[in-house]
Amino acid sequence: MKFISTRGQCAPVGFNAAVAAGLAPDGGLYLPERLPDIRPLLPRWSNLAYADLAYEFLHLFATDVSSAELRNLVDRSYIRFAHPDVAPLVELRDGLWVLELFHGPTLAFKDFAMQLLGGLYANQILHTGQFINVLGATSGDTGAAAIHSLLGLEGVRIFILYPRGRVAPLQERQMACTGASNVFPIAINGNFDDAQRIVKELFSDHAFHAKMRLSAVNSINLARTLGQCIYYIHAWRRLPEAVREAKDLEFIVPTGNFGNIFAGWLTRQMGLPIGRLCVATNQNDILYRFFTSGRYESGPVLPSLAPSMDIQVASNFERFLYYLDQNDPAAVRGVMEQLRATGKWTCENFDPGVFRATHANDEEIREIIDDLYACFHYVADPHTACGFADIDPDRPTVVLGTAHPAKFPETIRDTLGFEPTAPALEALKNRTVIRHELPAEADAVRAFIEEHGV
Ligand SMILES: *Cc1c(COP(=O)(O)O)cnc(C)c1O
Repeated sequence: MKFISTRGQCAPVGFNAAVAAGLAPDGGLYLPERLPDIRPLLPRWSNLAYADLAYEFLHLFATDVSSAELRNLVDRSYIRFAHPDVAPLVELRDGLWVLELFHGPTLAFKDFAMQLLGGLYANQILHTGQFINVLGATSGDTGAAAIHSLLGLEGVRIFILYPRGRVAPLQERQMACTGASNVFPIAINGNFDDAQRIVKELFSDHAFHAKMRLSAVNSINLARTLGQCIYYIHAWRRLPEAVREAKDLEFIVPTGNFGNIFAGWLTRQMGLPIGRLCVATNQNDILYRFFTSGRYESGPVLPSLAPSMDIQVASNFERFLYYLDQNDPAAVRGVMEQLRATGKWTCENFDPGVFRATHANDEEIREIIDDLYACFHYVADPHTACGFADIDPDRPTVVLGTAHPAKFPETIRDTLGFEPTAPALEALKNRTVIRHELPAEADAVRAFIEEHGV
């Protein structure tokens, strides 16, 4: 299987090359050259363990990874999940489920794809013999998930920039209390945009990039997209047969960068019988506005109770755009250029198709957390809560639970009067924080990486 760029100005590449590159050389994002039809495979996949399902699915794409290596990779990827079913489907009432994606090492859904990506990096180092320095910026969950996928790995140093004082205290502890000597959490004196700007600047410094063999962790890596398709299939096979066959099943996805829900849509394109997909945003509702009006227009980011969905530009949206534009890379380039120049774009005659969208502000998030506890005794984190803003009572519905409520103890305490806990987080509370503080300047970070890199 080959992978093409959404911008169509570079040659198709194999799986390993697409994963190693992250971003395509023409600035586009990688997509499978063609999508397999998984429908005939679903019966055979229905009783497999999660890791076995992951193996079968990834095998369709990672054709340049040997079977033994892929086997090893998936076995390693899900072993640190605390629940035996990896992604348990919890029934709240007849016809309404939560797919809990927060039983991984950092208690957010990003572990699913990130654990896989960590294993792929390890393989790459094994094959090339070249050590790498991983660099990324985070507002919380991505950085923690990346660190925990590369913890203690030989030949990798990981540098994660985050805005000092602006990530949740437990998120910081997840990054800064690992005790691993290859992990360097860097608190910069600036905001998330500064962190991202520095990372971009260092990646575009070609001499430095090459010398330090920099690798990115970001939400646009192909392995993350594919790694996130698997739990849609997993959830579907756990549903009652009548629901699976009714064809009106809806998945509701708390959305920020459009990575998670895009994976669901892609799986539907491969034949998984999903009736509808709902983009659930918080008050940063650029995607809500797009899916209800066809207008895509970024505004200022408003900090919310669901910080991992506080985005201004949905970086995975370009992948969806490719299909929306009838697979025409020239059209994608046109839209991306217009977005870069003006920050807005309107899709003529937009048809949302299988998508709908909802949004929830902070007050609504609190109300939902309260209601879910009153009705079902279920404690939802503020991100997952956004998924319950507008449930269609006539459809079987799966809401994706994207984070463990114990990651956001203040919000839950203010709303429900108690603090949820998770063993993985309790253990962190007594550990020493080891972080590095730097000014928000590329030169300072460059010098730090030169000193501590591998
Ligand atoms: C990253 C994240 C999201 C948003 O997912 P996208 O793939 O960016 O749309 C939602 N909830 C949580 C808890 C997250 O960490």
